[in-house]
Amino acid sequence: MTAPLAILHDTFGFAAFRGVQEKVIDRVMAGRHTLAVMPTGAGKSLCYQVPALARTGTAIVISPLIALMHDQIRAAEGFGLRAAALTSADANREETIARLRAGELDLLYAAPERASGDGFQSLLARVPIALFAIDEAHCVSEWGHDFRPDYRLLRPLLDSRPKVPRLALTATADHHTRADILKQLGIPDDGLIVAGFDRPNIRYAISPRTNGPKQIAELIAAQPGPGIVYAPTRNAVEKLVEKLGARGRPVRAYHAGLDPDTRRRNQAAFVESEDMVIVATVAFGMGIDKPDVRFVAHAGIPKSIEAYYQETGRAGRDGDPAVAHLFWGASDFALARQRIGEVEDSRQAGERARLDALARLVETPGCRRAILLRHFGEDPPERCGNCDNCLSAPDVIDATELARKLLSAVYRTGQS
Ligand code: ADP
Ligand code: MG
Repeated sequence: MTAPLAILHDTFGFAAFRGVQEKVIDRVMAGRHTLAVMPTGAGKSLCYQVPALARTGTAIVISPLIALMHDQIRAAEGFGLRAAALTSADANREETIARLRAGELDLLYAAPERASGDGFQSLLARVPIALFAIDEAHCVSEWGHDFRPDYRLLRPLLDSRPKVPRLALTATADHHTRADILKQLGIPDDGLIVAGFDRPNIRYAISPRTNGPKQIAELIAAQPGPGIVYAPTRNAVEKLVEKLGARGRPVRAYHAGLDPDTRRRNQAAFVESEDMVIVATVAFGMGIDKPDVRFVAHAGIPKSIEAYYQETGRAGRDGDPAVAHLFWGASDFALARQRIGEVEDSRQAGERARLDALARLVETPGCRRAILLRHFGEDPPERCGNCDNCLSAPDVIDATELARKLLSAVYRTGQS
């Protein structure tokens, strides 16, 4: 059996584990159930890929979307891993099953609706399993922003192999969701491992929207380098492109209403560019690896703090200074409240809690980063020194106050 570090070097060609990867992998190697909460881009896949190679048997990976599975399989095969998916859409089902039975698969991906069926359990009956990886594990919780009832049905499969370690992975889990994942998947409380969520090079700013296009144009004028502007609707994207386009920087649109060719072309142009602004709906950004994005602007509120963190997190992946600026209006919240009224009853409490958390972030006179990090379960300092609130009014007031005290002290000293 090869040790995890040797696999990291030899198979993946990476010099060192990042952040909590080693901690997560050690626990899985010891056969213990684990929930890893790690931000997007932190390297969650590696946390199951390495034990898949280091432990006997195939890793069963539960993943919610077929498109996502195929991306993962391509990436894994790029590192020389043997990976396949069992989905209703797959033509080579028989071949995959044969490879699984012959012990020729390191990773087998399956969607929850398939994995939770009896057929899947009996298929695995005599197959050695290295671990169960449950990707996007927040889908198991009604508190999560992406509830998938089929995730709830995985438990009999997991329980049928009690000695096989379970590794649940997610980027986005608040306290409720985490507790729920642990309970639903039978992971002990001490199995929770949370990565650092802070992105210190991102400067957060949040302002009321007075004149959205003008405010965004000013932001763009002040920020050289590539940037993303998120707008709530296709229509809003088109309008912004029109208004911003006249100002000298290359500006392109990205939304689901454009034909796939134009979308691909605009995305490729953005990835290549050193000064382009892309105005997009939230459809843009998934799976895009552009490290030098210098700013992310929101022309309206995102869906939740998790979404905000994920979307702003596309800025400054290279570690150089970057800006995230959100412009919000009271109408954004009114509309969001109205939408919540239209969703299923069982989901309304969760959605409302998510909107309230976002409102607190928007309205706080305190540190934005502190609110964000506390949301993800961290215990940050009171002030970060790199958000609008830390950088503006309170400092000025503090300085004025300090000056006043100093002056009065000098004055008193002078008198005595
Ligand atoms: P996540 O699922 O957490 O968003 P991924 O698993 O897709 O992240 O990994 C993001 C990128 O980081 C991938 O390109 C991956 O190969 C790379 N990566 C992961 N771990 C390491 C590491 N220890 N050293 C260098 N690169 C890594
Ligand atoms: Mg992932």
